[in-house]
Amino acid sequence: MLLAKSDLHSALKKYFGFNQFKGLQEDVVESVLSRNHTFVIMPTGGGKSLCYQLPALMQDGTAIVVSPLIALMKNQVDAIRGISNEEGVAHVLNSSLNKTEVKRVKEDIVNGITKLLYVAPESLTKEENVEFLRSVKVSFMAIDEAHCISEWGHDFRPEYRNLRHIIGRIGDGIPIIGLTATATPKVQEDIIKNLGINNAKTFKASFNRPNLYYEIRPKTKDVDADIIRFIKQNENKSGIVYCLSRKRVEELAQVLQVNGIKAVPYHAGLDAKSRSSYQDKFLMEDVDVVVATIAFGMGIDKPDVRFVIHHDIPKSIESYYQETGRAGRDGGEGHCLAYYAYKDIEKLEKFMSGKPVAEQEIGQALLQEVIAFAETSISRRKFILHYFGEEFDNETGEGGDMDDNVRHPKKRHEAKEDVVL
Ligand code: ADP
Ligand code: MG
Repeated sequence: MLLAKSDLHSALKKYFGFNQFKGLQEDVVESVLSRNHTFVIMPTGGGKSLCYQLPALMQDGTAIVVSPLIALMKNQVDAIRGISNEEGVAHVLNSSLNKTEVKRVKEDIVNGITKLLYVAPESLTKEENVEFLRSVKVSFMAIDEAHCISEWGHDFRPEYRNLRHIIGRIGDGIPIIGLTATATPKVQEDIIKNLGINNAKTFKASFNRPNLYYEIRPKTKDVDADIIRFIKQNENKSGIVYCLSRKRVEELAQVLQVNGIKAVPYHAGLDAKSRSSYQDKFLMEDVDVVVATIAFGMGIDKPDVRFVIHHDIPKSIESYYQETGRAGRDGGEGHCLAYYAYKDIEKLEKFMSGKPVAEQEIGQALLQEVIAFAETSISRRKFILHYFGEEFDNETGEGGDMDDNVRHPKKRHEAKEDVVL
């Protein structure tokens, strides 16, 4: 499909109301419209959805979007319906639909109304669905969260491994677009290999977050006091403190409260009502700090989170990057402070010990990188970006002086005050 640039911009405006493409979006959209296999690597929040939604809306036929999370699919479908005033323009096909609903979805597809069909990978293993999709006009297949295909990713899903085979059955030569926010070269290789898209046009955005300041402090028994001090120095600012265990979350939230900090706990063990109430309080700024397990953060879009503290070091650089990435979304200041003790690595190792050997080996390799990161004396930013396959020059790169190792090459944290524990 040959299109002038002005056509793409007017389509962007028409469907999404945006005046400008973000980052590499325009090039990606062009690539998809030209029916290339396309591979998109952009950090979370980079605007990956639009890379397949816009070409889907502009073309005849239905784009099939594979996505791992039902909640995410529903959000996206609602958003697309909102912009188009035509309910049938986007549908979800999954096992929760009754017969009538399935019939409606199929009719809309056959009638050319549906431009985006979201499916979970499990739904694609159903023979009747594959048979149906074989018989209709498919514009392309988008595989969102494509890292789920890789054991090296942080969210491996075996059903993703079947996708290549199923796509082949739905129709040979259907363009495939893979999208992920996981930038490690290993995961990327896996995605390309498993989707069979060696010739894909690849678009990789920079993972540099120049407004984030990275700092690691040694973890001592005074860690809670240190955290309290840090939070008090950042009064009235929003922040998240991540802990490994629910128990620690509860304890630390309490310690913070006792010390006059407006804090709430958040973990998957709390009932749904408390969780959503705490989340709302954070968003409404009735509380300043959420002490949480990694259950907190998915889909939370608070732009002015000013600090993310890791009470416990995460299990991989990807996790660290994702979690710290929740700071400074608005481009303003974001302080990322992590506490590190080798003892915590041993705890993480112990967590893995029940798992299959192959998984343990991968987990170990990821942990070694975390150790190297925590113990390095080179720039944290340089380290992270190198891990994601990106070279960074601290002299010329944006945010080049925004980490502890660059700013204070030898400094260790000091000073103590009295705090109630
Ligand atoms: P990702 O999937 O890469 O994490 P999303 O597709 O969810 O990112 O997009 C993140 C946010 O960016 C969304 O709120 C979306 O509306 C917004 N966005 C995407 N593209 C643009 C654009 N061209 N202009 C303005 N906002 C955009
Ligand atoms: Mg996304």
